[in-house]
Parts: sequence; C-alpha cells; structure tokens
Amino acid sequence: MLNIVEKEIKLPSYKLASRLSKADDTVIKIKNTKIGGSHLTVIAGPCAVENEYQMLSTARAVKAAGATILRGGAYKPRTSPYSFQGLEEEGLRLLKMAGELTELPIVSEVISTETFDVVEQYVDILQIGARNMQNFPLLKRAGRSKKPILLKRGMSATIEELLMAAEYIMSEGNEQIILCERGIRTFETYTRNTLDLSAVLALKELTHLPVIVDPSHATGRHNMIEPLAKASVIVGAHGLMVEVHYQPELALCDGPQSLKPKAFEKMMQSIKQISSIEDISIKQLKQSKS
Ligand code: PEP
Ligand code: MN
Repeated sequence: MLNIVEKEIKLPSYKLASRLSKADDTVIKIKNTKIGGSHLTVIAGPCAVENEYQMLSTARAVKAAGATILRGGAYKPRTSPYSFQGLEEEGLRLLKMAGELTELPIVSEVISTETFDVVEQYVDILQIGARNMQNFPLLKRAGRSKKPILLKRGMSATIEELLMAAEYIMSEGNEQIILCERGIRTFETYTRNTLDLSAVLALKELTHLPVIVDPSHATGRHNMIEPLAKASVIVGAHGLMVEVHYQPELALCDGPQSLKPKAFEKMMQSIKQISSIEDISIKQLKQSKS
C-alpha cells in the first residue's frame, strides 16, 4: 500500500479573505454594475459633496464620460478640525439625488459607528477610509451591514493588515468587500503618498476580493492621475477611484488632485484603449458609452 501523506493546507489568519479558501474572484453586483472578476469599475466624483449644483454637474459629467459608480464625501475625516467637515446628512441626500438622476450607484464614507445607520440608509456602497482601516468597532459594524464595503488601505498599513481588516468585516458575515490601494506614507514628500502598485499584484494573488486603485489620494496631483490610472489597469486592478470637480480651484477639499470633467473624459478614453490592448473585458465601459 502506498504511503499517503496528507498535505495540510495551512490557511493564513485572513482565512475568509484568502484565495486559498475561495479560488474564484468575488464579483459584487450593485444595481446595474459589477465589481471584480473581468469587470472594470470606475468610481468618480468630488472629494466632498458641497452643494446641489456642484454635485449634479459633476455627476452628469462623469456619467457622460463612462464612470460606473458615483462618489461624494458627506462625512469628511479631515486632518485639521478647522477644515470643511462635510455636509453630513444633507450631503448624502444630494449624492442620492445625483445618483438617481444619472442612474449610477453611489458610494460615500462612513467615519463612525454613531453615523453608520444614516450613511447606510442612503448609499449603495459604504466606504471605510484610510484613517479608519483599523477602527475595529467600525469594521465589525460594517460586517453586520447588508451593503458592500469599500475598504481603503491605511496609510501605514501592510498588505497583511489590510487583509486582516477585511477579515474583521467578513467574520461578522459581510463578504462583499472591495479593497482599495490609495498610496502609503513613505519618506517621499513630493507626492501626497507613494502609490504601491505592486500591492495590487500581491492582493490579487492573496485574495479573491476585488482590488481597485485610487491615484487621486495616492499622489495629490491632478497631472499624475491619468498615467497612473493607465498603469493600474495594466497591472490588473479591477477598477479605479478618481476625484473629479467641475471647478477644482473652488473645491472645498482636495482641489489640487481633482480632475476637471474634460481631463476625466480623456482619462476614460486612455483607459478604454489600454483595456483593449491588454485584452481586459471592459463591457461595462463600452456599454456606458452607448
Ligand atoms: C476619500 O476617498 O475621500 C478619502 C478621504 O480617502 P483616504 O481615506 O484614502 O484618505
Ligand atoms: Mn479626497
């Protein structure tokens, strides 16, 4: 008789998020769009919802250019307590209105457990930002939500710590998580952060969850967004999150990194070209044009 050696598959501590526990890519369906697998998602919109005109005009512009999901911050985690903190529930109301007008699903950040319920009522996807990636009570609350969570990498978090944060959410029952690489803090100060594109490759190896890239917060510079968006698609990101403002000079938050609608349209054209060269399915983007 042959000696059968049982090979134990040792799962990492992020066992639910691990590729070893689920080989196929997770694909998240939200309204008329899909995130993950062979779908390329483009989330776009202003850093913060400022007023009705700003939100609606930006929403129309990003929809026309082919964005698949609309963003807008209503609760802003700002470095300074004197900076604009967001319109809160009124901001969510305006974002929802813009989402309905453009027929785009909406995403907005939730910064505390106290305000979780109100954000959850309005949005299709809840964002947990870099500063809250290890806010464990918030992660646990997100785990009890029925809505997908966009989880951004902390600015000094390792790839493993990001996956453990996702595991917190999954272990409470919510398996709909989108990971976002948004740059990490290094010794370099020329850019706001340092975009870690190799993290996309690592994450795609380690997890079945969708991975997107936010070049806006990674660089803080509008002229770097298009080239890095292209690079992100080439390395295999499942999507992008980009800040767009109809008049960045007047933005109450993150103007220097915001694209004007024309520049966003140009970025979308390049992304479509890159996707066809790289043979990446961009069905949703093609559809959104027609
Ligand atoms: C944002 O996306 O609005 C944001 C605040 O990003 P981050 O958490 O990555 O800084
Ligand atoms: Mn921002």
